[in-house]
Amino acid sequence: LFVTFEGGEGAGKSTQMRLLADSLSGRGYDVLTTREPGGSLGAEAVRHVLLSGAAESFGVRMEAILFAAARSDHVEEVIRPALQQGRIVLCDRFMDSSRVYQGVTGNLEPGFVETLERVAVNGVVPDRTIIFDLPAEAGLERARRRSLNVDPDRFEKEQLETHEKRREAFLDIAEADPERCRVVDATLPPEVIAAEVLRLVEALLPG
Ligand code: C5P
Repeated sequence: LFVTFEGGEGAGKSTQMRLLADSLSGRGYDVLTTREPGGSLGAEAVRHVLLSGAAESFGVRMEAILFAAARSDHVEEVIRPALQQGRIVLCDRFMDSSRVYQGVTGNLEPGFVETLERVAVNGVVPDRTIIFDLPAEAGLERARRRSLNVDPDRFEKEQLETHEKRREAFLDIAEADPERCRVVDATLPPEVIAAEVLRLVEALLPG
């Protein structure tokens, strides 16, 4: 079972992924939690480059290809082997983040983004994707508070308008693929969201 957590900044994806991992482990499931960009040795190295100042000079195509390269390594080295072993894989961001960040707000042609996605995921598509929906302003505020002592990474400095665009793009993905995707209201209290997230994967649990 492969579950991905998607949404804008500060929506609580990472926290909720941890909570779900805890409750599934508590039920005896073998759970692997991972994240993108990163999650494998090669992909973490690419993440480092993507979140550094050097990336400011990259064009959006190069950036998209680097995200895809990282995803490919992550899929082949970590996700696919874990799924083959029957583990539950929970991933913080995956292909939908590329559709939204590089595709929609990066203004890349859909064909280019689709090709990269196909090559990178190579057949490993999430069984369930939980999209954490939050007004852009609230998400940015949370992300800002979280990183008071650290430099916000370069993506978080972007305009509110861009964040709102991404929110819409995530909702469009959910609408286009209702089998795979579920939207969760990220403004609710964390424990309410956690219960909802568990409910959304429960039907898919093996055994
Ligand atoms: O999930 P997290 O906030 O740690 O992601 C790191 C950054 O990478 C985010 O700020 C996000 O904006 C960016 N990102 C991206 N394209 C992706 C995945 C993440 O621009 N495909």
